[in-house]
Amino acid sequence: MNRYRIATIPGDGIGNEVVPAAQQVLERAGSHFGITLEWNELEWSCEYYARTGRMMPANGLDTLAEHDQIFLGAVGYPGVPDHVSLWGLLIPIRRAFRQYVNLRPVTLLPGIDSPLRAVPEGGIDFVVVRENNEGEYSEVGGRMYRGTPDELAVQEAVFTRRGIERVMRYAFDLAGRRAGRLASATKSNGIIHSMPFWDEIFRELGSEHPGVETSEYHIDALAALFVLDPARFDVVVASNLFGDILTDLGAAIIGSIGIAPSANLNPEGDFPSMFEPVHGSAPDIAGTGRANPLGQVWAGAMMLEHLGHADAADAVMGAVSHVLAETGVRTPDLGGTASTSEVTDELLTALETEV
Ligand code: ATP
Ligand code: MG
Repeated sequence: MNRYRIATIPGDGIGNEVVPAAQQVLERAGSHFGITLEWNELEWSCEYYARTGRMMPANGLDTLAEHDQIFLGAVGYPGVPDHVSLWGLLIPIRRAFRQYVNLRPVTLLPGIDSPLRAVPEGGIDFVVVRENNEGEYSEVGGRMYRGTPDELAVQEAVFTRRGIERVMRYAFDLAGRRAGRLASATKSNGIIHSMPFWDEIFRELGSEHPGVETSEYHIDALAALFVLDPARFDVVVASNLFGDILTDLGAAIIGSIGIAPSANLNPEGDFPSMFEPVHGSAPDIAGTGRANPLGQVWAGAMMLEHLGHADAADAVMGAVSHVLAETGVRTPDLGGTASTSEVTDELLTALETEV
C-alpha cells in the first residue's frame, strides 16, 4: 500500500469548493491503484491572516516539511493586498522547499474551445518550465525621494548560475522525454546583463544535450507565437517573470483559467512539492457552487504523477477528458450550466467506468 501525507491548504474563496471536489476524485482514482492519500488540512488563508496577522504560523514551514506533498487551493481575497499572500505564504514555501521549477502544461483538452481562431491540426500540447525561486521576483532595491519630482524606484533582478542551470537542466531532461524541442525565453537586446547570462548558460547546456533541438526567442515575439503558432512548441523555459506572463497566456489559449494547473516542483524530492490551479480565489463567484473544479483536479493529477503514479494520474486525466468530450456536463466558465458538484460526480462516475 502506498500511503502519502498531503498538507492541504484550501485557502480562500473557491479554494474551499474546488479542493474538496478534487480530493474526492483523487481518492477514488487512488483506490484503484492502491494509493491512500492522508489529507492534513491547514486553515492558512487571508481569513487566518485577518485573525492572526500572519498567512501561516511562525513554524508553518516545519509543519509542511512533515508532509510528502502540498495541495493548495488559492490564497488571496479582497481587502488583503496580493503581496501579503504572495510574500507571506507562496514565495516562502517555494523558496524554503527549493521548488525551483514551476511546471505548467499548456494542453488543449478534448471538447474545449480555444479562443484561438486557428487551432493547429495536432492541437496544442506544450509545457512551460518557469524558474520559480529567483530572477525578477526579488527583494533587492528600494524607493527614494518620495513625494519629490525626483522620486525613483530601483528593482534588481537576481540571477545565479546555480539557479539558471538547475531549472534549465530540468527543462532539457523534460524535452528529452517529450518531442526533443526546447525554446528559451530571453530579452538580451534590452536587458543586457542578466539575459545574456541566461543565454550563455542555455547554449552551454545545449551543447551537452545534442539530442535536444534548441531555439531562443525574445519574450515579446515568443508571446505572439503562443497565439499565432502554438504547434511550434514542445518545452519552453523562462525566467520567473517571463514565465509568469507566458503561463497566463498559455492558460488563456487552452480555454479557461478554471482548467489550467501548476506544479511547484522540488525535482530532487528532498522537500515537498506544491500543486495548485493557476486561477485565484475568484471572489466574484465564491459561494455560488459554480466554480470549475478541473484546474484543481488536474493539479492533483500532476501530484500523483510526481509521487510516481503515472497510471493513476492518467486515469484522472482520462476521466477529465471523458467528461469534457462526451458528457456536456461543464461549469459556466466553459459555457455549461453544471455546478462544481455535478462535474465532480461525473468525474467519479467516469473513474468507475473508464479505469
Ligand atoms: P487572485 O488575486 O486570487 O489571483 P484574481 O481575481 O486575480 O484572484 P481569479 O481568482 O483567478 O483571479 O479570477 C479571475 C476570473 O476567472 C474571475 O472572473 C473568476 O470568476 C474566474 N475564475 C477563476 N477560477 C475559476 C474557476 N475555477 N471556475 C470558474 N471561473 C473561474
Ligand atoms: Mg490573480
